[in-house]
Amino acid sequence: MTRWGMVIDLDRCTACQACVVACQVENNIPPVDQADSERGRGISWIRLAPFREGEHGTRPSLRLVPIPCMHCERPPCVKVCPATATVIGHEGLVGQIYARCIGCRYCTTACPYTVRQFNWKKPEWPQPMQDGLSPDVSVRPRGVVEKCSFCHHRLQRARDQARMEDRTLRDGDYLPACVESCPAEAMFFGDLDDPRSVVARLAAGPRAFRLLEELGTKPKVIYLSKGESGGDV
Ligand code: SF4
Repeated sequence: MTRWGMVIDLDRCTACQACVVACQVENNIPPVDQADSERGRGISWIRLAPFREGEHGTRPSLRLVPIPCMHCERPPCVKVCPATATVIGHEGLVGQIYARCIGCRYCTTACPYTVRQFNWKKPEWPQPMQDGLSPDVSVRPRGVVEKCSFCHHRLQRARDQARMEDRTLRDGDYLPACVESCPAEAMFFGDLDDPRSVVARLAAGPRAFRLLEELGTKPKVIYLSKGESGGDV
């Protein structure tokens, strides 16, 4: 069984935000104006969160860490949704069924990674941005919670391709937009259960760690700490 996961190498990440922009364009994420942004109502499925590094009392340095949905193996968001709008797919992806979402935001409160976004207003795309909307991704209405799907529509395309070629889906058959767009090649994606995959090798390496692992959510996004990155891949 495939178990899709992502590895982010913090030693390579330059915090350029190419992943944020790629995600925005790929997934029809509505832009907001400055006033909405100042009220904290911007929507982004992957964000660069600031973390301080260094001992207490010393001069800390700031690191920016890309944070998408972790597609947890034990996701608290799924447990609290009263409308079963948040579900785990058979390949371990945590999906959001927008037609079922009632906007109660229990999931947003339960998610320890704060990756869920509530649509506060009717999404609008001024021309010519409307022409760039992806036909493969739904345009979410006001009042629902949305989040990263690991570009699930790309997985569907890869599945169809594999079916046409009469073979099973393989590691490397599909990449989310953020991974594909990263100019520093700091993001990797693939099957964590395939021991030959790059992500499985990196996830088993000495620099690998997961965010808030102590909560028992078992995130499928794995980070590589700063250090010698040469030879890992
Ligand atoms: Fe749910 Fe948050 Fe885990 Fe994503 S990161 S699966 S939204 S608990």
